[in-house]
Amino acid sequence: MVWDDALAAHDFGPGHPMAPLRLELTARLARELGLFSAPGVRLAGVRVASDELLTTVHDPRYVAAVRRASADPRRVDLAHGLGTDDDPVFAGMHETSARVVAATVDCADAVWSGQAEHAVNVSGGMHHAMPDRASGFCIYNDLAVGINHLLERGARRVAYVDLDVHHGDGVEAAFWDDPRVMTISLHESGRTLFPGTGWPEETGGPGAEGSAVNVALPAGTADAGWLRAVHAVVHPLVRAFRPEVLVTQHGADAHAQDPLANLAVSVDAQRAAARSLHDLAHEVCGGRWVATGGGGYDLVDVVPRVWSHLLGIAAHAPVAPSTPVPREWRDFVTAAGWDAPEAMTDGAPAWFSPWEAGADPADPLDRAVLATRRAVFPNHGLDPWFD
Ligand SMILES: [Zn+2]
Ligand SMILES: [Zn+2]
Repeated sequence: MVWDDALAAHDFGPGHPMAPLRLELTARLARELGLFSAPGVRLAGVRVASDELLTTVHDPRYVAAVRRASADPRRVDLAHGLGTDDDPVFAGMHETSARVVAATVDCADAVWSGQAEHAVNVSGGMHHAMPDRASGFCIYNDLAVGINHLLERGARRVAYVDLDVHHGDGVEAAFWDDPRVMTISLHESGRTLFPGTGWPEETGGPGAEGSAVNVALPAGTADAGWLRAVHAVVHPLVRAFRPEVLVTQHGADAHAQDPLANLAVSVDAQRAAARSLHDLAHEVCGGRWVATGGGGYDLVDVVPRVWSHLLGIAAHAPVAPSTPVPREWRDFVTAAGWDAPEAMTDGAPAWFSPWEAGADPADPLDRAVLATRRAVFPNHGLDPWFD
């Protein structure tokens, strides 16, 4: 696990949805639950990624632009997406963003070298950052730099699974033409949500057909549909692709209470999905698993619980759904004037009917899943209806 209080210095300012509070509360909850000190867990600090590392994915002119804005936050640079409402500039933004990148790269290193079986960076998951511009609250793309680092270290196939409610467009773009990286993003349809991309027909560039996978979920999709889609798309494709490492992004903004999006997924379902991806890493990748946070804007009630479950799963010390939220954490939160959840999940059954039990082409969720399976399953020797 990577944690350093400096990671919470990533602050776009008052009123911005991605407030550092969500990381502070997550770290505090994980600590109270004993996850940072669970047997076998190593808690690693972070450094600032070098320009050499950042420019393995990002345009050197873009990195220079972030450095300029970081040193003088009065400088907006709209050509590079800096100084917008989504990505306001702030003093030190280069350093804090580059720290997030180093944290994910260190996770990738630890897993690839065998120092750790699983590694988690809850501050990571900045999946919208593009090679040459900031986008959607993301400055540097820690995931793309981390995956590229795995390739440079010798990985021949890496699978990336993005559970954030928004399309993982930056990671997809970074590996669009690269058949060594399969990117799978499940998100609310671009018809109703930023960034408006991530359609089933987006399947990868020449020579990499079928390596980009997108499920555009109807607004309102809840646990049963969301988990059904994950299992109907991710598991068969990852098994067929046989990656050496699984990299996953656990944005918590698919939750019903998230203020920026329109899915209706519970903490229980996000916990169940994380468990299932963990098991898939053991089944397919010899356990090599790198997991990150991502979006998530219900800062108090949702994000800390979802990511604490992720940390518990990665530590092989899963937090049971009925676990009460630790008293000390609740006291801290209520003293600050917020309502604190009482239990570690929403108490939802997180039930779903698997695809194998039958698909209904009249159902909007099944139509969305089927469109994705039709678009990419044949590239991997799979049957869109029956595999
Ligand atoms: Zn494990
Ligand atoms: Zn998101």
